Amino acid sequence: MPEKYENAKGYKDCWYALTANRLLVTLGGLNEQVNCDVCVIGGGFTGLSAALELAEKGLSVTLLEKETIAGSASGRNGGQVLRGYSKQPGALIGSYGLDTARQMSNISLEGLALILGRIKAHAIPCDLKFGHLTAAMNGGHVKELKKDIDDLHRLGQNDVTWLDRDAARALVHTEAYVGGLFDQKGAHFHPLNYALGIAQAAQASGAMIYEHTAAVDIVPGSPCKVITAEGGTVIAKHVIIAGALDIKGLGPVRRTSLTATAHIVSTLPLGMDAARQVMSRDIAVADARYIMDYYRFTNDYRLLFGGNCNYSNREYPGEGTRLKKRIKKIFPQLENIEIEHCWHGPLDLTANAMPHVGRLAPQIYFAHGFGGHGVIATNMMGKILADAVAGQTERFDVFDKIRHNPLPGGDLLRRPLFMLGMLWYRLRDILG
Ligand SMILES: Cc1cc2nc3c(=O)[nH]c(=O)nc-3n(C[C@H](O)[C@H](O)[C@H](O)COP(=O)(O)OP(=O)(O)OC[C@H]3O[C@@H](n4cnc5c(N)ncnc54)[C@H](O)[C@@H]3O)c2cc1C
Repeated sequence: MPEKYENAKGYKDCWYALTANRLLVTLGGLNEQVNCDVCVIGGGFTGLSAALELAEKGLSVTLLEKETIAGSASGRNGGQVLRGYSKQPGALIGSYGLDTARQMSNISLEGLALILGRIKAHAIPCDLKFGHLTAAMNGGHVKELKKDIDDLHRLGQNDVTWLDRDAARALVHTEAYVGGLFDQKGAHFHPLNYALGIAQAAQASGAMIYEHTAAVDIVPGSPCKVITAEGGTVIAKHVIIAGALDIKGLGPVRRTSLTATAHIVSTLPLGMDAARQVMSRDIAVADARYIMDYYRFTNDYRLLFGGNCNYSNREYPGEGTRLKKRIKKIFPQLENIEIEHCWHGPLDLTANAMPHVGRLAPQIYFAHGFGGHGVIATNMMGKILADAVAGQTERFDVFDKIRHNPLPGGDLLRRPLFMLGMLWYRLRDILG
């Protein structure tokens, strides 16, 4: 019989792990044969959302997670719950036309409602708070963000507003900002606790969740066979590949994205008074640069601050120190700040800044490439994949139609070329 996992081992040195409501009890190391309607591979937001939706539809679900539930990007991110996609609203309209862009934007807002509805329905304690500012740091950003607001209005989203320099600085107390786009529906939360709550809700509806179980091969057919590294087999009518997974045969799909590494630090608790010297409300903030700073306060008033993405797929020492310097540059009032935790996670980036969604075979669905704007998009895509399995493909088709080319350069030059492209964005950020 598979071993049972009851604790949080495997989450490493991430503040979220240390504050996880880990009540989840899962199965582990699948080494026998199980049968089900749908095998979901990947226990991040995409997979968990799909598993919950499928189980609520009355389908039998087996979810396989290589390590721990939400132990990768989904449980290690900035926790900023933002409408839209990595692609700017204007680019969305330019690439896909107003009607499709509007459909995609509505789907994103539906994703926000889905998350809020699930938090409420399953009473998930995840420190949810509202309000988000995208801050302009120069005149170019002001122009871009004002255009974003116009484009969002064209998409029917009239609930975002422009804050001038004084209004932005009254909200976030730094001289670095000269205005910003305020989204009252934007939110932030503890992503790992949210994910664990979704996993428990999926189990309560009957989903079987296996941790420490890696899928290594998928044999298409009716039914499909998913083989695990531990010698188990899942016989399933449908398979959902949820996230940027390394499984035999996925090569052509995976060549449309590359993984970058994003870093986050959390400080020692600052207390409410010091937090109020940084911002007058507990909102989430990101600046308008391509390689941006993004931050918010946790429930116990730690500043949780992300930035410094690297594109080489290598770890460099000293990220914590670099982020600490950055915090002090934006907020000189935090001169004596102490960093307690520093961690990183994978950002799965596509060339067109949209998720790559489709079918490998009639019964095998996949979704990956959510980039740094994935909290809402992954949760919604999990539902969309579950709906497609159940025969409702209208919204799946919207994303399936997006064209994704493999990133150029072949296996050898793909990453160096990608790094060169990112250097251009970094320069653009520096030159303003
Ligand atoms: C540091 C950081 C900060 C971010 N901040 C934000 C933010 O503030 N707001 C926002 O919207 N987005 C943010 N993002 C992006 C967001 O976190 C991701 O887009 C999203 O979590 C991706 O979810 P996923 O389900 O696709 O993948 P993941 O969360 O990566 O889940 C995939 C899972 O599959 C498992 N797996 C891999 N291979 C196998 C296999 N062979 N068999 C079984 N399981 C396997 C992995 O272990 C992993 O748990 C951030 C990302 C990072 C890294």
